[in-house]
Amino acid sequence: MNASQGPAVDRSALRPPQPAPDVDTAPFWEATASGHLSICRCQQCGLWLQPPLERCRRCAASTAFEPVSGDGTVSTFIIQRQPAVVGFFDKVPYAVALVDLAEQPGLRLPGRIVDIDPDDVAIGMRARARIDALAGGDFHLPVFVPVD
Ligand SMILES: [Zn+2]
Repeated sequence: MNASQGPAVDRSALRPPQPAPDVDTAPFWEATASGHLSICRCQQCGLWLQPPLERCRRCAASTAFEPVSGDGTVSTFIIQRQPAVVGFFDKVPYAVALVDLAEQPGLRLPGRIVDIDPDDVAIGMRARARIDALAGGDFHLPVFVPVD
């Protein structure tokens, strides 16, 4: 039997990859589940740490998650034009960016840039995090909306 003659599959209905929280990242996902964006921060010197660490890379003190504004600027981005990621086939083309959060230079978070034509996304543009439900499970994740 030729596989290309099998039943049609609605690729837009496939489940996107889901986060796999561990001891370091669970607080991030707990925050997004309640509609907030929180980032790991040193409890001694105040350094924000993304990705999260158990101990501060600058002073080795303990860390905890704290809310951030979600405001930032696009540091760099790509435009995904091919349906390469399961669960996002129906969203191409879309922009995925690294956004510099306002709390600290170089504090970067990845996310899709939404509510804009991807060809209008530009490095340096201001954006604000919004917490959206991720299809196919119970997780919520940040996306970024342009701010004019
Ligand atoms: Zn520190």
